[in-house]
Amino acid sequence: PATATKSLPQPQDKLLGGLLSAAFEESSCQSRYKSSLYRKKSPFPLSPYLVQKLRKYEAYHKKCGPGTKRYRKAIEQLKAGRNADNAECKYVVWFPCNGLGNRMLTIASTFLYALISNRVLLMHVAAEQEGLFCEPFPGSSWVLPGDFPHNNPQGLHIGAPESYVNMLKNNVVRNDDPGSVSASSLPPYVYLHVEQFRLKLSDNIFCDEDQLILNKFNWMASVSASSLPPYVYLHVEQFRLKLSDNIFCDEDQLILNKFNWMILKSDSYFAPALFMTPMYEKELEKMFPQKESVFHHLGRYLFHPTNKVWGIVSRYYEAYLARVDEKIGFQIRIFPEKPIKFENMYDQLTRCIREQRLLPELGTAEPANTTAEAGKVKAVLIASLYSGYYEKIRGMYYENPTKTGEIVAVYQPSHEEQQQYTSNEHNQKALAEIYLLSYCDKIAMSAWSTFGYVAYSFAGVKPWILLRPDWDKERSEVACVRSTSVEPCLHSPPILSCRAKKEVDAATVKPYVRHCEDVGFGLKLF
Ligand code: GDP
Repeated sequence: PATATKSLPQPQDKLLGGLLSAAFEESSCQSRYKSSLYRKKSPFPLSPYLVQKLRKYEAYHKKCGPGTKRYRKAIEQLKAGRNADNAECKYVVWFPCNGLGNRMLTIASTFLYALISNRVLLMHVAAEQEGLFCEPFPGSSWVLPGDFPHNNPQGLHIGAPESYVNMLKNNVVRNDDPGSVSASSLPPYVYLHVEQFRLKLSDNIFCDEDQLILNKFNWMASVSASSLPPYVYLHVEQFRLKLSDNIFCDEDQLILNKFNWMILKSDSYFAPALFMTPMYEKELEKMFPQKESVFHHLGRYLFHPTNKVWGIVSRYYEAYLARVDEKIGFQIRIFPEKPIKFENMYDQLTRCIREQRLLPELGTAEPANTTAEAGKVKAVLIASLYSGYYEKIRGMYYENPTKTGEIVAVYQPSHEEQQQYTSNEHNQKALAEIYLLSYCDKIAMSAWSTFGYVAYSFAGVKPWILLRPDWDKERSEVACVRSTSVEPCLHSPPILSCRAKKEVDAATVKPYVRHCEDVGFGLKLF
């Protein structure tokens, strides 16, 4: 029996209880309406305040977005090098960095930031990201027009003089008395580099030119993962935040809010850091009474695959997943900075499957069809760049019966072998697979992977996380642990105390964040 297709949602659910705007034409973006048919209802009620906030934002975006008089005026000011007082429209321009999962997490964080700081969100859409997502805001566009004057991603790095932290260091701005700073005394835009927390200037390895080196590592990883030294992870872990670099502090936010243009680049899910900024805490609380649902709701609001990508998703779903009794997703991600041998990863996955009873046990003889489970179909969906895990799990259930008589069908939509940051087709498949994973009833995913974070958060399902071995070990003793939240993890959290010269661990004082199961120093909302 088809569990997904038999329980069609009621008409009022089409807009996900008011999360989605009614102002779109349905055929322009089918996934907006059809994706929820493949999922269970969201376990998190929507706050009416958030709905109100979204409708207000949409009106604001329409009023100030590309193609409007107000937008042209703001661009003229920017080109003229002026930051006008009392500007009617303010903007935050998102620039991409890293893979699709990272991008989706940072777009959602930037959107949340835009919502609470009253900015219009615009996206620099690189060629590899073109045609992936539908427009999320009715009657307007979130795509940054090509004539934006500061359109060169190369200029955006942690050392850029326009970076807010560098402006502070160079005394271009001061944050000791935000009330006395007039907007017109500020530079025409500010650059916010949100991945600096645990990295020293010279150790920024995630974006920019260093990415070229990382790309090589990815290629090498697919040839011989074990030949790679443990490179990035160690660097990231060793360096501590310089207390003065935390920008999620009231005094900094008061200054930042005076800039009419903000350019932002990040590879982090920094939404939890916004919650920890005192001046935003109350407002965010009203928007998300259940803090665990931040990405779940914002992601379902913002990201809708275009009809082309939706074609991939729906064809696959209807062919293999629509009529099964249960869907179980495994996402296996091997990172270049912590290569894990295939045998070790496969062993860890099967230990997790056994310990958590994710799949039926294998039997030795054909079972009599007497159990209640007999004949039920469990579909396993595997997302991985490599085909080995699929081959072995499929082989296991092909060659052996299950004890209960359940049928296990194993599928993997693609195996791209290498990560390709700049290929549009590659990203279409990645997006399709994130969506397919998000239709699973149970998910087990690789630690640290933002690809997996996005999938389980969309689903609203707490995943089992396949822990990463310690940096000096090849295997993880514990195969997997259940996540306590459906929120993604912020890998490099700010330290709470802002300018006070002491470290405060947010997890010990804020009741709504805790350390992540997979990234010990990371934080997630729950
Ligand atoms: P993270 O690096 O795991 O945090 O996730 P990202 O999504 O940011 O970057 C990984 C990128 O590698 C993805 O965006 C894809 O381009 C590619 N990739 C990794 N795993 C898979 C997979 O299972 N399927 C597909 N199609 N692509 C993948």
